Amino acid sequence: MKTINKILKYSLIFLLGIVSYQCAFLESLKPPQIIIQIIEKFIRDSKGEFTYEQITAIKFNFYYETDGAIIAVCKYPTLVSPAVIELDFNVWEIQSDIERKATIYHELGHCLLHEGHRDSYFKDHCPTSLMNTYSTTEGCLKKYWKYYVKELFIYSGVR
Ligand SMILES: [Zn+2]
Repeated sequence: MKTINKILKYSLIFLLGIVSYQCAFLESLKPPQIIIQIIEKFIRDSKGEFTYEQITAIKFNFYYETDGAIIAVCKYPTLVSPAVIELDFNVWEIQSDIERKATIYHELGHCLLHEGHRDSYFKDHCPTSLMNTYSTTEGCLKKYWKYYVKELFIYSGVR
């Protein structure tokens, strides 16, 4: 009898473990608040062309083991899986607000607007597009932010 009680006790603990693991998993599917704020800005900047649901159909994941060379990637949707934006957590942690915004906008440029890279530069060496292969400085982002947003949406024909 004692043994059965013990087995019941441990299987209950085991079951609770599964339930709490599943809750934690479901929780992680919702993008972090800071990404939600960027998504809301992106919707406003697109003049309401996209809905929140359309954008959050894309999954946002962090990855942790990296040499820092690739700071983010859009994995395109397939017939069996939705698009995923993967972000280098170590880089994300040290990025400023505008750098994070530029990273998310760039990846949404791939995943949502289906844009490729555009690698030209102004005379001051700032890129002419957020869709440049390489991330740029905070100075360039601040100087050209309004232009970059316009360029992103005009190029894809959204506005
Ligand atoms: Zn890219």
